[in-house]
Amino acid sequence: MKENPAEQPIRDRLEPGALSVDGFLGTDKRPIADIIAADTGTVEAEGFTVEQLGDFLEKLHVTADEGWESRVPMYDGKISVRSDETLGQIPCPFACGAHCHKAEIAVKDPDGNDLLRFTPLDAHLIAAHGFFEGKGAHYRIEPKTLIALYRLCTE
Ligand SMILES: [Zn+2]
Repeated sequence: MKENPAEQPIRDRLEPGALSVDGFLGTDKRPIADIIAADTGTVEAEGFTVEQLGDFLEKLHVTADEGWESRVPMYDGKISVRSDETLGQIPCPFACGAHCHKAEIAVKDPDGNDLLRFTPLDAHLIAAHGFFEGKGAHYRIEPKTLIALYRLCTE
């Protein structure tokens, strides 16, 4: 698929050094629309929607925020979440007007193993834009990883 010219401003904001040091694309050279279509397809094939998964991450983020940088158990202790906040906000690279707090949320199992690390912006990018970041990006979330976490928590 040929790159849509309208994607270029978004792509520029997703590159390293624009909005974040590492950027959002990793080594992924595919058009943004193709990245979104592939991941949305994976999510829908599993019977989920991107809104559902983004809302789930948002819930983890809000709960972690309420813990004021201490670890908070969720879902009967199946997981715990902790947010480490950085000062400031980051605008959505899709220029939809949303701004998210800069933070990293660590999700762990009861033994303290990392299950997932994500940012508040990731929750927005997935729910609003179906964007899980490019392959190789620092905060890329594999849709199947997120679906497995969702199932672990809710089943
Ligand atoms: Zn947005």
